[in-house]
Amino acid sequence: MIGNQTALIWKEEFLEHDTGLHPEKKERLTAIRNRLEKTSYYSNLQRPEVKPASIETIAKIHNNNYILTLQELCDKKRSGFIDADTPYSQGTFHAASLAAGSALTLADAVWSGEATNGIALVRPPGHHAVQESAMGFCFFNNIAICAKYLQTLGAKKIFILDWDVHHGNGTEASFYEDDTVFFSSLHQYPFYPGTGKASNIGRGKGEGANLNCPLPRGSVEADYIKEFENKIFPAMDQFGPDIILISAGFDAHKDDPLGGMELESSSFEAFTRILQDKAKEYCGGKMISFLEGGYDLKALADSVEAHVSVLVS
Ligand SMILES: [Zn+2]
Repeated sequence: MIGNQTALIWKEEFLEHDTGLHPEKKERLTAIRNRLEKTSYYSNLQRPEVKPASIETIAKIHNNNYILTLQELCDKKRSGFIDADTPYSQGTFHAASLAAGSALTLADAVWSGEATNGIALVRPPGHHAVQESAMGFCFFNNIAICAKYLQTLGAKKIFILDWDVHHGNGTEASFYEDDTVFFSSLHQYPFYPGTGKASNIGRGKGEGANLNCPLPRGSVEADYIKEFENKIFPAMDQFGPDIILISAGFDAHKDDPLGGMELESSSFEAFTRILQDKAKEYCGGKMISFLEGGYDLKALADSVEAHVSVLVS
């Protein structure tokens, strides 16, 4: 049956991370849910139960002091800014822990084969969050926590592809010296957060397992496809992943108010399709994707629908 191999996570609690008047707002997730609910495959999706990740699990990527400080801020002060552009509310710690927990749930489902692939439609997003702090709308690095957890399940070669318009600096830093997690990012450059040069290729044991593909403002789908074909897929072929994780931001869409790229909604269908072909070639189709950015509600809903339509196929 179409769709019964894809696990999807979407929880009301993600809406309780209240950012007020901010581009990373809860309406992003309701727009996505409202759109997916209208699809023919929605009722066939697996909807696994999610528990918040424990502090111990989150601490595989973030330091304890930061985690406990965030918890205390949400409990006591209840709202404010943790960095210049990252607001928190009373519900943030729980939402962020549940987003990280989604990573574990999908890792279990996909690694065991209960689901072929999975998508975590979570807030807050994760790929800018670094070891010691929140950054750029992100609190806990969901995809990095997923990769660490997959290693405990036995994954030896994890390929992370980040197509958000912004460079995934937090994820890169988490695995910069690790040759068992290959990180590759396509991003607008120069742009926030300023990292993501092509010359940053990893360090020590991780040298050669970090591939940045910076692209100029105004890049179109064909520019991205060239990077996939000429750089990313040759690297992936050499690496031979046993699972592919995607930092799926949709802010490189032409209608996005923050990004400066010119992708169409259908571009995300194309990217998902070529990555799924690779996942089928190397690892039985195992892929997990995590919502990162995407700030125009219609473009976001269109793009997520395009992405999920391939996952369920
Ligand atoms: Zn972004």
